Amino acid sequence: MHEFDLIARIRARAALRGDVVLGIGDDCALLAPPAGMQLAVTMDTLNVGVHFPADTVPYDIGWKALAVNLSDLAAMGAQPAWCTLSLSLPGADAVFLDGFTDGFLTLAKQHDFALIGGDTTRGPLSISVTAHGLVAPGSALRRTGAQVGDDVWVSGTLGDAAGALRQWQQGDAMTPVLRERLDRPIPRVALGRALRGLAHACIDISDGLLADLAHICNSSGVGAQINVDALPASAALREAFDVATCRVLQASGGDDYELCFTAPPVQRDMLHALSQTLNLPLTHIGEIVTGTGVCCAGVDVAAAGYQHFA
Ligand code: ADP
Ligand code: MG
Repeated sequence: MHEFDLIARIRARAALRGDVVLGIGDDCALLAPPAGMQLAVTMDTLNVGVHFPADTVPYDIGWKALAVNLSDLAAMGAQPAWCTLSLSLPGADAVFLDGFTDGFLTLAKQHDFALIGGDTTRGPLSISVTAHGLVAPGSALRRTGAQVGDDVWVSGTLGDAAGALRQWQQGDAMTPVLRERLDRPIPRVALGRALRGLAHACIDISDGLLADLAHICNSSGVGAQINVDALPASAALREAFDVATCRVLQASGGDDYELCFTAPPVQRDMLHALSQTLNLPLTHIGEIVTGTGVCCAGVDVAAAGYQHFA
């Protein structure tokens, strides 16, 4: 297959939206953003062996490449709109491309997210996505807004993806439920949008709870006190690891793509109701305090968080 055949295969399946004036096929896409809205723009790259195991199935690679970008839009409270896809492929493999496109476009469809262009080159397997979302002026959930006295909350359960990764690194069989969390993260788009006006600050957990919460603290000029016993864990994680290992995975494991946010205590009832509506656990795990840094007694904070160039 030629580069243009690869692009044609993707183009044939990409769904459009009313505000896409021109999609894949010309030198640029043309978009008609709604008047008065701000664009939220983000980009994330996935490299084989770094962001996913080499034996990950193509469907899951496509899913995850999009999910991590949708997660960034979710963390800003933005509504997903359009994305572009840069694909570096070792060869023109139709089976890979179709599986990849399946995973990518299945998730895109769930969020009315239009693939409007990209680039296709030969090279080591690597996927970059640029995502564009829409948000009303002043309503984006930034990292800078945390206030002393806020509650710290987290969605879903923590440590599952890191648990699968730990099993893989140890040469153990990965627990299917945990592996699904690693390979097919669910971006919390509806939650992010519902948190506008409720939360003071928000971030998605890609590098680990403590590391990512530290970004909120640094940006906001505050500290955080986290109760390690309050951190939510799945039954699968508890079954696979001892209590001490679970704690480290929950506090410092990356790749869960849950949202961590702060909100004043007056919003507790609203947040419990929201948890019911979304059928998604929301757990109060600590407080924003004066000072700097994240304190979590019982976990080695220094060892927490993944850094590419450390
Ligand atoms: P150009 O050489 O003008 O940059 P290309 O030949 O790279 O154009 O791409 C042709 C069209 O296909 C463009 O509209 C581009 O956005 C789109 N495209 C290329 N690769 C991808 C991809 N992986 N996914 C989606 N669209 C793509
Ligand atoms: Mg090009």
